[in-house]
Amino acid sequence: MSSSRGAAGGSGTLAVVPPRVRFAPSPTGFLHVGGLRTALYNWVVARQGDGSFVLRIEDTDEARNREDWVTGIDESLRWFGLDWDERHRQSERTELYASAADELTAAGLTYWCDCTRDEVDARAKARGGPPGYDGHCRDLGKAAGPSAALRFRTPDSGTTSFVDVVRGEPAFPNDAIEDFVLVRSNGKVLFVLANVVDDLDMRITHLIRAEEHLPTTPKYLLLWDALGGGPPPVFAHVPVIVNEKRQKLSKRRDRVALESFRDEGYLPEVMLNFLALIGWSPPDGRERFALEEMVAEFRLEDVGRSPGFFDVAKLRAFNGDTIRAMTTEAFVERAQPWLSGPLAPWPPETYDPEVFAAVAPLVQERVAVLSEVPAMVGFLLVPELTVDDGDWEKAVKPAGVVALLDQVTERWADTAWVHDPPTAEPLKDTLFAIGDEVGLNRKRAQAPVRVAVTGRAVGPPLFESLVVLGRERTLERLRAARARL
Ligand code: GLU
Ligand code: ZN
Repeated sequence: MSSSRGAAGGSGTLAVVPPRVRFAPSPTGFLHVGGLRTALYNWVVARQGDGSFVLRIEDTDEARNREDWVTGIDESLRWFGLDWDERHRQSERTELYASAADELTAAGLTYWCDCTRDEVDARAKARGGPPGYDGHCRDLGKAAGPSAALRFRTPDSGTTSFVDVVRGEPAFPNDAIEDFVLVRSNGKVLFVLANVVDDLDMRITHLIRAEEHLPTTPKYLLLWDALGGGPPPVFAHVPVIVNEKRQKLSKRRDRVALESFRDEGYLPEVMLNFLALIGWSPPDGRERFALEEMVAEFRLEDVGRSPGFFDVAKLRAFNGDTIRAMTTEAFVERAQPWLSGPLAPWPPETYDPEVFAAVAPLVQERVAVLSEVPAMVGFLLVPELTVDDGDWEKAVKPAGVVALLDQVTERWADTAWVHDPPTAEPLKDTLFAIGDEVGLNRKRAQAPVRVAVTGRAVGPPLFESLVVLGRERTLERLRAARARL
């Protein structure tokens, strides 16, 4: 077999109508950023052509799968709005894979092998060639048994090649493709067989997946043919995603779990926009676009080949921009999980919507992720203020701070506290005047007051916040802080 496989190149690749695509995660961990990008590209292709987006949970590896990871995949996709048209689980389809193995055996394309891994490795070493199985049991007519695996007989000559929308036309000489295992001695079907059987059965038209699967694609195609699959799907192997050190993102080393980004307060639409850009951008090169725009403009042919950089700093900046661009009502609404919901650092009754509404516009300007909101406004809501010791020590270091705190407590008691509309000027003017008297510049004059009243060195604009907090509570906190010195 040496003819080239797959769809014709060029602009014809998306001509298959309507597309049937699948996202096929293995539930061996949380859904991660790379998986989400794969899901997104598939989903967009389905939505472009009035096609179907199939979610296929590849849960055949019982030892490595967990049910809460399956739930996590569903929930993450829902959170991102990537709705599916069909959902299947491989664990419920094992009979199909077993009968495919029988079909291949009936066609004389398989044989039983009872070589151990050590034997296979030792022979590979002795022959000095590449690692892998040498076909030792091919013609030995071994019988099925408790320690025998079923192998696929790959062709000895010719080339398996295919058209890949992203990768061009990769070609693999058949004699370098080992007789791979289809069914392990314990009866478990291997990934590639289940993968092909399902793609055939589900009539998948476009196979968009991570580049790491490229090397198994020739095996996939040999099986596809052996099972009488006809014209294969359009392949698109999308490039790896790397970290700032140009290392492939890894679950162990890098923060990649989507749950963790969600809980930190990244917005789903921002993550989708950002991940789409790792590998693709609209023809006009703009960086910000909505999902509908991507559906309108995406072309699989425009996905780049080079590794994409997952730039967390850029993602954070995108997120902050998007938060600032919202209406304040939307911001208040979307911050609720961190203020009154499951992610709030206090009991639900601590949250006071009126108090938050008064400072929301100030906070909105200053957070990049929503999880930063509670720390910014906690001093307005919690009954008992906790003061950061490090921030406090730093703020009270300069000479003159004691005098400043005494003076400000006294003079703010007589300063107008203008609530309607909230007016910061009188408080500000008084404090800076005292600062001048005791020799502290504006920054140094504000710092001890800020830490004393808000508990931290950073937060929303000070004087506006103090108006919201009210005179009584402000003075009470100033006195308590002064007593610590
Ligand atoms: N189950 C495979 C994985 O999670 C995906 C295989 C595929 O997309 O073909 O890596
Ligand atoms: Zn063998």
